[in-house]
Formats: sequence, C-alpha cells, structure tokens
Amino acid sequence: MSQRTFSIIKPDAFRKGHAGAILAEIEKAGFRIVAIKKMSISKTQAEGFYYVHKERPFFPSLTTFMSSGPMIAMVLEKGNAIADLRKLMGATNPANAEEGTIRKKFAGSIEENAIHGSDAEDTAKFEIGYFFAGYELA
Ligand code: ATP
Ligand code: MG
Repeated sequence: MSQRTFSIIKPDAFRKGHAGAILAEIEKAGFRIVAIKKMSISKTQAEGFYYVHKERPFFPSLTTFMSSGPMIAMVLEKGNAIADLRKLMGATNPANAEEGTIRKKFAGSIEENAIHGSDAEDTAKFEIGYFFAGYELA
C-alpha cells in the first residue's frame, strides 16, 4: 500500500546548493514526488509547523533557522514512505547518522540538518495540510 509523507529540504541545504543532490537521493530511493514547491516561511509560520517542540530550549533558534531563507516543501509517495524516508534521512544529529544517509552527507549540525521528514501517519497528515492545498495534491 502506498503511503504519503511530508518532507522539507531545509534552508541550510538549499543555501549550500544541495537541493538537487538531495532530490536525486530521494528519487533514487523510489519516492514519487506528488507535489513540490520552493518557499520561504515567516518565523510565525515556522512556529506553527514545529508547535510540538514549543517548550523545547531549541525552539526559538530552530524557528529562526527555518525562516532564514528559501526551502523546498514536498509531498512524497511510496510503500512505507514515512519510515523509509526517516531511514534515508539518518539520525537528527549528523554525528550519529549512518553512512550513506542524507544527513550524514549534507547536514552541518543537529539544528541545520538538511532535511525534515514526518515521523508518523498523523503528523504527515497535519504537515501536508499545513503546506499544501488539496488541489495541489490531485
Ligand atoms: P525533523 O522533525 O526536522 O524531521 P527529527 O524528527 O529528526 O527532525 P526532532 O526531534 O523532531 O528531530 O527535532 C526537530 C528539529 O529540531 C531537528 O530536525 C533539528 O533541526 C532541531 N533540533 C532537534 N534537536 C535539537 C537540539 N538539541 N538542538 C538544536 N536543534 C535541534
Ligand atoms: Mg521530528
């Protein structure tokens, strides 16, 4: 059964010119791009996206980073998309990320870690709806 997940090529990776290489990894791993757009978000919009982390000490810095420049938002589809993307991304902290993962290759730090991927069915649904309208997913 195919499944959809939400992903962001974060502002650090976009700024460094890694968007194309990261998309190539995603396609090579068998994901279909359902929807994709380059966008810049405000600090308030970043706070809404990462609201689950609002009590964490890194929340102010994370939301400043996510609103610091253009990023690529996308909806991806394949069987087991949510878990498979998390595996392809690697650990949150690139120092702990496995060889061959996107974060191992492209992340600079635990915060500026190149890519986001939804962590469960319910968060994928929320995140897709946060950034994409129904007509963009047809
Ligand atoms: P994401 O939700 O972006 O896919 P994740 O699920 O691997 O990443 P989370 O715990 O959900 O990690 O944290 C969300 C984001 O917050 C991380 O990707 C990273 O950018 C930032 N972050 C997490 N932990 C820290 C930390 N200790 N210090 C600074 N930033 C952090
Ligand atoms: Mg997360």
